[in-house]
Amino acid sequence: MKSRRSKYDVAIIGGGISGLMAAYRLAEKKPSMQILLIEKGSSIESRRCPMIAKDAGACAHCKHCAVMEGMAGAGAFSDGKYVISTEYGGWLTEFLPRETVLEYIELADSTLVGFGATEERYFPDDELKKLCLKHDLHMQQAALKHLGTDSNYETMKKMIAAVAGRVEILTQTEVTDVDKGTHTLYTSGGEMIADTIIYAVGRSGSRAFSGWCKKNGIQMTSNQVDIGVRVELPAIVWDHFSNKIYEPKIWYRSKQYGDVTRMFCFNERGSVVMENTGGVLTVNGHSYKGKDKKTENSNFALLSTIHFTQPFKDPIEYARYVASLANLISGGSVLVQRLGDLEAGRRSNPVRLKQATTRPTLCVVPGDLSLCMPKRQLDNILETLHALETVAPGTANHDTLLYGIECKYYSARPAAVDFELEGCKGIYAIGDGAGFTRSLSHAAAHGLYMADKILKG
Ligand SMILES: Cc1cc2nc3c(=O)[nH]c(=O)nc-3n(C[C@H](O)[C@H](O)[C@H](O)COP(=O)(O)OP(=O)(O)OC[C@H]3O[C@@H](n4cnc5c(N)ncnc54)[C@H](O)[C@@H]3O)c2cc1C
Repeated sequence: MKSRRSKYDVAIIGGGISGLMAAYRLAEKKPSMQILLIEKGSSIESRRCPMIAKDAGACAHCKHCAVMEGMAGAGAFSDGKYVISTEYGGWLTEFLPRETVLEYIELADSTLVGFGATEERYFPDDELKKLCLKHDLHMQQAALKHLGTDSNYETMKKMIAAVAGRVEILTQTEVTDVDKGTHTLYTSGGEMIADTIIYAVGRSGSRAFSGWCKKNGIQMTSNQVDIGVRVELPAIVWDHFSNKIYEPKIWYRSKQYGDVTRMFCFNERGSVVMENTGGVLTVNGHSYKGKDKKTENSNFALLSTIHFTQPFKDPIEYARYVASLANLISGGSVLVQRLGDLEAGRRSNPVRLKQATTRPTLCVVPGDLSLCMPKRQLDNILETLHALETVAPGTANHDTLLYGIECKYYSARPAAVDFELEGCKGIYAIGDGAGFTRSLSHAAAHGLYMADKILKG
């Protein structure tokens, strides 16, 4: 697509929740501002994953993964768990006072409510926390909303329509470079200039963004990496938690290694999905709000956290490597295995999978996770599943399904002062792509904060 002008006040790279919130706030507060939002994926209405639509049995390796890229970003088809807390969801409190972050999370929430998001909130439950503590399990508590994959999509559609009325939006346009001196943006649709530039590229754009930072002499620090599996089991196993708090978020320190393994991203009566980040296939999960779209199963991520020390500095590449191994042995897909097969030291095959009482919601290749998951992480995951069994019996059943690999690579973080990139006047970075956030609510809050900062100054 071609832009209408060649010069703008503000250009935002990425149409995910952080970029959209920034655009919305800027346009709302200063209608005379010339704002451009550039998104490499499609419009929200045109986003269609052939696998989810059941047009393809395996990942079609689309040029732009419809799950991760396009207007509304990675959150477009997400379950829409919206955390109203600084307890987890990002690292903004390392840079801003906790109250400020909370204020912006609330502001983002009321913006979404204005576009139709639910007002219903789940609150922490100390009884469940006590039950976990009795078994050396640690539950993180926060107020939470469940927007739901279907309702979240409708809310985002309305928000994008409101932004489109005031901001120029270019879809299917990729920013390939930015000149930090002249503020020229080089895109697949031509060149343009902006006084202020905001990188809001999300996880799918983080690799290219890191490359750009390195090229421009900006120091990068890497965060942790989490590697593990997506667990799927009958929804009734965890409903004493999910009925009360919606999302049990529990961590456990393994006796064998002393490593932390986290259960999170819980999807009640949801589906497991595949995602493609820069050519590497991994798993994730979501769940719809509409009763007709609910499944019999719930799913959650179970991930073991690794912090590398010297000399290795590239945890993201490590995670990509592990995930690629699963892609390799599954013939270009991801793996699913019954826990019973994994513990018996044998692969799951189509016959064994057919015998499972838990029916998979994602059709992928039955195989052997122990052939691609490093021993340490696999041991941590097995130990944690048995620890979780103590508070939710049935978690470590023979037919519990494990999909792999799931990993959360948190993007490397650039050196910046109040999110302005080192040595790059007027160029900022926000959201998941720059390693500042890792959730919808925190990324949204970051976008709003950035808009206010620009308006002030
Ligand atoms: C399946 C799934 C389920 C999830 N569920 C939840 C949940 O329930 N709750 C929760 O809090 N979080 C969830 N998340 C995480 C959440 O979606 C992210 O934290 C959030 O979307 C981050 O927002 P962002 O704006 O930083 O990045 P993104 O949403 O990733 O948006 C970045 C956008 O930038 C575009 N882009 C990248 N590079 C370029 C470029 N060079 N030029 C132009 N455009 C570019 C991308 O195409 C993308 O659309 C989920 C994620 C996935 C994938």
